[in-house]
Amino acid sequence: ESQLNPSYTFENFLEGDSNRLARNAGIAVANKPGGTSFNPLLIFGGVGLGKTHLAHAIGVDIKDKYPEKTVLYISAEKFTQQYIDSVKKNNRNDFIHFYQIIDVLIIDDAQFFSGKTGTQDVFFHIFNHLHQNGKQVILTSDKAPVDMQDIEQRLLSRFKWGLSAELQSPDFETRVSILKNKLYRDGVEMPEDIIEYVAKHIKSNVRELEGAIISLIAQSSFNKKEITLNLAKDIVEKFVKNTKREVSIDYIQKVVSDYFQMDVGTLQSKTRKRHIVQARQLAMFFAKKYTKASLASIGSQIGQRDHATVLHACKTVDNLSSTDKQFRKYVDDLAKKLSL
Ligand code: ADP
Ligand code: MG
Repeated sequence: ESQLNPSYTFENFLEGDSNRLARNAGIAVANKPGGTSFNPLLIFGGVGLGKTHLAHAIGVDIKDKYPEKTVLYISAEKFTQQYIDSVKKNNRNDFIHFYQIIDVLIIDDAQFFSGKTGTQDVFFHIFNHLHQNGKQVILTSDKAPVDMQDIEQRLLSRFKWGLSAELQSPDFETRVSILKNKLYRDGVEMPEDIIEYVAKHIKSNVRELEGAIISLIAQSSFNKKEITLNLAKDIVEKFVKNTKREVSIDYIQKVVSDYFQMDVGTLQSKTRKRHIVQARQLAMFFAKKYTKASLASIGSQIGQRDHATVLHACKTVDNLSSTDKQFRKYVDDLAKKLSL
């Protein structure tokens, strides 16, 4: 069982500037698995930009061209779970052996390995074995190797051996072609101005782009209404509102320091003045809450503190917001500003 989804093909993965490198590298790998310098091929990019689709497309195409090859798609999360189970059941060696005889191994969302040293260890050995035997490894991740947190250096250096290709947000033309392709496959007709309206307003996530079109079709068919521009506007508005903007730690520091009318430098400074300490702790608290960064990484970005300081900040904010009304208001105000 390869676990591949046959509907995720190259043909259905529309090309644009945002994905050309990754898509073409994928095609090259599919033509000659293990036989290019793109080994591993690492595809990285934000949520909903097509990493999983592209990873499957490579596998599907290889299975098509080389039916005798064993191809396996697995999420890093499932791989981790299997590994943990194998340790519990005392068959770690069977687990390793199973993976070492695969021709093409596709691991999706490798960022999940963060901080999981046991799994990283076993994957390191499997990777080396496959690589030495000319087998192909394909990885996806939400970040470039340089930005990955809590992954062992030796594994990161392996990730960098081949090619890292980024999937970026598609431009307007590509978004329009993605929508048209989807409508065509579903046998739905839609006026050009409506397609363009949706493509114009939903920019950063292909999954949402498709989601908006799907709800547009559903709304019109359930309510027996024509697909009009006004209906499209309603739906797009809901989608845009529900999409939480990705916040960065820089952005959080800016919002918090603006709120307390200080500059970011002050917020990061070593001073122990109470209101500045509180602002800093709030920034750390929201960085923990709204980003995926580790405590250590938050600390280093907010004035070179260590992870224990960040942990202490989060606890302090939790405590103060349940005992101090004024402080509670700071937390609520900032949460509102940050969750735009
Ligand atoms: P990720 O794994 O990066 O979060 P997915 O691979 O799940 O993203 O893609 C989200 C959705 O967008 C899927 O339905 C996928 O088919 C679609 N998609 C993404 N990029 C493209 C593209 N270039 N052409 C067609 N569909 C795409
Ligand atoms: Mg995915």
